[in-house]
Amino acid sequence: MNQEQKFLPRHDLDRLLQQLKEESYNCLGPVVRDGAIQYLPITDSSDLPAGVELDQVPAAYQLEFTDGDRLFNWSNGPQALKPLLFRPRENIWQVQRDSSGNLAFSQADESVEPTAVIGVRACDLAALELQDRHFLVPGAEDPHYKKRRDSLLLIGVDCSQPSDTCFCVSTGDGPDLRSGFDLAMTELEDGFVLRAGTKRGQKILDALNLSAATETQLQQVAIQSEQATARQRRLLPDAGVQKLLLQRPEHPHWQNVAERCTACGSCTSVCPTCFCFSEHSETNLDASVSQQVREWSSCFIPNHSNSHGHPVRADIASRYRQWLTHKLAGWQEQFGRSGCVGCGRCISWCPVGIDITQEVNKLVEDTG
Ligand code: SF4
Ligand code: SF4
Repeated sequence: MNQEQKFLPRHDLDRLLQQLKEESYNCLGPVVRDGAIQYLPITDSSDLPAGVELDQVPAAYQLEFTDGDRLFNWSNGPQALKPLLFRPRENIWQVQRDSSGNLAFSQADESVEPTAVIGVRACDLAALELQDRHFLVPGAEDPHYKKRRDSLLLIGVDCSQPSDTCFCVSTGDGPDLRSGFDLAMTELEDGFVLRAGTKRGQKILDALNLSAATETQLQQVAIQSEQATARQRRLLPDAGVQKLLLQRPEHPHWQNVAERCTACGSCTSVCPTCFCFSEHSETNLDASVSQQVREWSSCFIPNHSNSHGHPVRADIASRYRQWLTHKLAGWQEQFGRSGCVGCGRCISWCPVGIDITQEVNKLVEDTG
């Protein structure tokens, strides 16, 4: 891929959005809704969060409204790309009985339109790659996920303002976009430096007919990246964590976390890599139609571990241990890397401020 970087002046951002529309994409972008940044439909750049900054600390997410012009000066919202592809709740198939008693099975078939998402972060692209590996196993692809995934065009933005809760540097996933994008943007004061990651992204970039980014602009990109990296203070321990967690199922710190954890499941809901779900059928009143519903589940739900009618993990300590050990150790065996991309959402959105980085460091440092 041609890595030539181009410059899009701030006042020309709508040209990019217009180009996406001309290529028949619906556009989603970051919009302030209900006190948080969410990916929602946008019509032009005036829908984007100009001057909005973000303060995230354990158990708190607070938007700040400034007079600035920057549109992407925040780290992330409560949801990544996950709900766009793996719906929180959806019908996946149904069975209908006709008057003769014959049953007709059919797969739920949602119409999906080409969709461009603008403003995606490096941690969320890393999480998407993991979700792809789970839902798109060759020969066993999830058809609902695949259809939506094939329709997506991803326009990423390098993170310039990581929050206190972010640690993507520690997991090797950010703050700059590494891969998985069609088009990448770095926001500077007066505009955006753009580079393509795929042929589809290159086509859009070529259509904009932009000037090459100047040396000064590329230096500003590099400085901004260094500053964003330096802002991050939280760390996950590296290498040996997989072995240490598996060796310490009886560590007293699991109980220490359980005394604070309410088992609400908020951490698994906001985590962009968690992919557990449950299924059940819903039947109408005359029992002529039954729908198979899939919805997000969580290690923190007691019956998530039901076996022969009883939960295998009945207490909160064992449920938290399952979540953390699977995320940081089990995923190494399944996917060759940990299941944490350092987005920090589970820290901000935990109502009691349980911090995955602090808890893991305690489990690894202490001998128990
Ligand atoms: S475990 Fe927490 S920090 Fe890691 S990817 Fe999930 S939500 Fe983000
Ligand atoms: S760690 Fe926090 S967010 Fe997760 S289940 Fe416990 S209280 Fe809820």
